[in-house]
Amino acid sequence: MEEEEGEEYLFKVVIIGDSAVGKSNLLSRYARNEFNINSKATIGVEFQTQCMDIDGKEVKAQIWDTAGQERFRAVTSAYYRGAFGALIVYDISRRTTFDSVERWLQELRTHSDTTVARMLVGNKCDLENIRDISVEEGKSLAEREGLFFMETSAFDSTNVKTAFEIVIREIYNNVSRKVL
Ligand code: GDP
Repeated sequence: MEEEEGEEYLFKVVIIGDSAVGKSNLLSRYARNEFNINSKATIGVEFQTQCMDIDGKEVKAQIWDTAGQERFRAVTSAYYRGAFGALIVYDISRRTTFDSVERWLQELRTHSDTTVARMLVGNKCDLENIRDISVEEGKSLAEREGLFFMETSAFDSTNVKTAFEIVIREIYNNVSRKVL
């Protein structure tokens, strides 16, 4: 089928958050339905392109993973450039990663547009027995900062697809509102 002109969309989405919160696994679970226990990604930015159908239109998201750069505080402005959406990830079993969220939000604000669709993601919700951050804490931070919020597990797939798709749908809505 031929695409009508203007019917194709490609949006950049970035994943940020402290090291080992599960960024790479969230992306591999969403894009390839894969999970790695001992994943240690090669250093350097990587992205995956995912397609989604919204209102009969093909919407492509180019989803970027820091691939370990954050360990060296080396996430550069180029990483954020042109992003329409962001997932800010913490690990529900490690408070330090939740405490870092404000810093990541600040960095995102510095390097990107104010209309970026943002979701706070509390990953590893399968680790209920060692939970350190309550769902309420996550929710209230998200409300305060005006972010979507979801707890996910890249391990057992809980909410992974939903989290990415809410962000992509919101970007699409923002863009279509601008066009109209
Ligand atoms: P990144 O550094 O933020 O990209 O984190 P990774 O995706 O490399 O994951 C870091 C570690 O956490 C790895 O050992 C993963 O297997 C583990 N991990 C990632 N997501 C989950 C999850 O949802 N649940 C559990 N239990 N472990 C996870």
